[in-house]
Amino acid sequence: MTAGKSYSLKGKRVWVAGHKGMVGSAIVRRLASEDCTILTADRATADLRNQDQVTAFIRDSKPQLVFLAAAKVGGILANATYPADFLFDNLAIQNNVIDAAYRNGVEKLVFLGSSCIYPKLAPQPIREDALLTGPLEPTNEWYAIAKIAGLKLCESYRKQYGCDYVSAMPTNLYGPGDNFNLETSHVAAALLVKAVQARESGASRLDVWGSGKPLREFMHVDDCADALVYVAKNYSEDLHINVGSGQEVSIAELARIMLDVTGAKAELVFDASKPDGTPRKLMDSSRLAALGWRPRIGLREGMAQTLVWYLANAAKARH
Ligand code: GDP
Repeated sequence: MTAGKSYSLKGKRVWVAGHKGMVGSAIVRRLASEDCTILTADRATADLRNQDQVTAFIRDSKPQLVFLAAAKVGGILANATYPADFLFDNLAIQNNVIDAAYRNGVEKLVFLGSSCIYPKLAPQPIREDALLTGPLEPTNEWYAIAKIAGLKLCESYRKQYGCDYVSAMPTNLYGPGDNFNLETSHVAAALLVKAVQARESGASRLDVWGSGKPLREFMHVDDCADALVYVAKNYSEDLHINVGSGQEVSIAELARIMLDVTGAKAELVFDASKPDGTPRKLMDSSRLAALGWRPRIGLREGMAQTLVWYLANAAKARH
């Protein structure tokens, strides 16, 4: 695969939209070692759902590169509970940022989606060309529809206006800055919290939603941020690119890793009243590998590091 033209960050003004989120804050950490100026916007300055505020921010702060990591995100239950927010807010954020970027001469934009854009029963590992080949997983279709529209918006601005805007689809992420609220979090953060609580309370059981059988790929957010910076520098194609780690485990195996890492002694109890979601979600990230990028952080090591972060920041993270 050809890498396309390369893009240098040297001396550039880089806006990380969504800098308070897990991915955005990891991108900010990663950019600290690049020779660039990092720009961020608080919600009070620019509510990204508001077109005028987004336009004013971009016009005044003049970013040259934008990482669009701002989104309304949540786990399997949050998606089912707030479908309108997941669809409307995400469409508004990406429409506003991508169009204002184009109108104000932003040179490069990296739009972030997720592996849930792919059909529920896509052949595994999932290649980029599986997009729109079958029905979506219903538990997260609101978010997925918005993200599909976002990557198509980037593709359309490339085609019609020649913008160097690309889309990256990370796999399931975990790490510092994750949402640790048990109602709305994704599984890795939820099981980490539950294992910590089981250790602290000495509970004999740990509740795992669903059957424990679904398979998921997990990637540490610092690996993801490193990949995204690599994509900004080295990727310039119409098609979106998968960002995965290749590390796949069942939900039950993940729960056992959490017990090990935290030292909790509980027994796993599977709650069949909760949904399993899609049976397997493993991305084929060979196009990213062909560009020359590799993940560095193993799952157990990454979870142990996240546990340390969580314990140090628990009060803030739990609210
Ligand atoms: P998904 O990858 O989009 O399906 O979203 P999640 O990360 O929320 O869920 C992944 C899988 O983990 C699903 O099969 C869930 O039922 C399962 N799971 C097990 N325990 C939990 C939990 O405590 N919270 C969440 N969010 N998922 C859990």
